[in-house]
Amino acid sequence: MTSLSMENQIANLEAGTHARIDLARYAQNIELMWDAAGREKSFMAVIKANAYGHGAVACARAAVQAGVDYLAVARVSEALQLRRAGVDHPVLVLGGPNPKQIEAAIEQGISVSVGSIEALDAVSQAAQRAGQRPTVHLKVDTGLHRYGALPELAFELAMRLAQDERLDFEGIYGHFSSADESDPAPTLLQIERADRLLDRLDEAGVTPRLVHLPNSAGILSGQLGRSNLVRGGIATYGLAPSPDVPLLGGMKPVMSLRSKVTRAFQIPAGEGVSYGLTYIATHDEYAATVPIGYADGLPRSLSNDGWFLINGDRCPIRGRVCMDQTVVGLSAPASENDDVVLIGDGSSGAMSVDEIAAIDGTINYEIVARLAARVPRVYYRAGEAFGWDDPILAESDIHLGAENENREAHAPRDDHRSETRAT
Ligand SMILES: *Cc1c(COP(=O)(O)O)cnc(C)c1O
Repeated sequence: MTSLSMENQIANLEAGTHARIDLARYAQNIELMWDAAGREKSFMAVIKANAYGHGAVACARAAVQAGVDYLAVARVSEALQLRRAGVDHPVLVLGGPNPKQIEAAIEQGISVSVGSIEALDAVSQAAQRAGQRPTVHLKVDTGLHRYGALPELAFELAMRLAQDERLDFEGIYGHFSSADESDPAPTLLQIERADRLLDRLDEAGVTPRLVHLPNSAGILSGQLGRSNLVRGGIATYGLAPSPDVPLLGGMKPVMSLRSKVTRAFQIPAGEGVSYGLTYIATHDEYAATVPIGYADGLPRSLSNDGWFLINGDRCPIRGRVCMDQTVVGLSAPASENDDVVLIGDGSSGAMSVDEIAAIDGTINYEIVARLAARVPRVYYRAGEAFGWDDPILAESDIHLGAENENREAHAPRDDHRSETRAT
């Protein structure tokens, strides 16, 4: 923390390139997805990769405040980041954990995934060393063929998990390969494989407390299988999983990206702009330089493509996007320090994350997830800034309010506290 007041600090950050993160929208998106999935189900907010670029700690706190039962990340280190920030909500590491970090995870009450005999042994041994009983989820490979145990092995692992007194076997989960596509067949097959495994385990007397299959696309398209918990990622940030799976009404993008003009000038007719002079002005053209580049996460493929919004005008990118700066053309002169919107909230006419992804030949996930640490995040709720995070200075101040007071009300449901045991 610095000695500046919150207001001054935010004003300073907003005088340069920054991302605005609207946590009221984030909470609203979670609510709408949860309603769609069914309120009787538990909700896991996926905040891996710095909450898809939105800021892991702030999003974690907002998700906890919205009442989610579980958080999910991809790496043990991401879960440790949350613990260090005082977030002591249940958090699951998705995928295979770094075996050397399992003990640290266990000591911090972090739930881990296992999908192989080796991983199960590693967790069991780490539990013994740590002298604690970790919460474990079994990852089943129902068809994505990424992490997890194929159903036959998964059955064996589940039996071992249920019998290992050192481990608290809390859940079984799978992950869809194609729930964001219009053909439901691959998802139905994955659900059927999970059902068969759950039936076999049931017959053997093993009933996991938590079963979770769907990602955002599965939730939005109603493909839940026998899940009593759902995992929401991309759509909680107000971004559609794919063109085939649109958002629900009322869901809005959480991130916008803003900056200020650092130079307002004219490109003389016949002169080129930026490295390689790949754009030549046909007339004396108004232009502005904006301090954002590919090192901030703005794709270089937007060179001579894409646009920024300045004073309400769509200003085309002129020449190459550089590492730290980009030039745009204007139809009317701008001034230094004019507002620039690089990614809009969907209403202003600025580029959307989906439009940037289309130009870059990628998906919206990648555009937000690679927003660099150099870009400070400013957190808003109901039009009011209440926090900020400047990752490269390792400084932040986020006054979300009552997440601790609400913890009791948002603790995991009682039925999940009972034990999963082989009978
Ligand atoms: C990233 C991830 C999710 C979230 O997926 P979205 O499409 O962003 O909702 C869910 N489950 C697993 C296992 C993941 O890796």
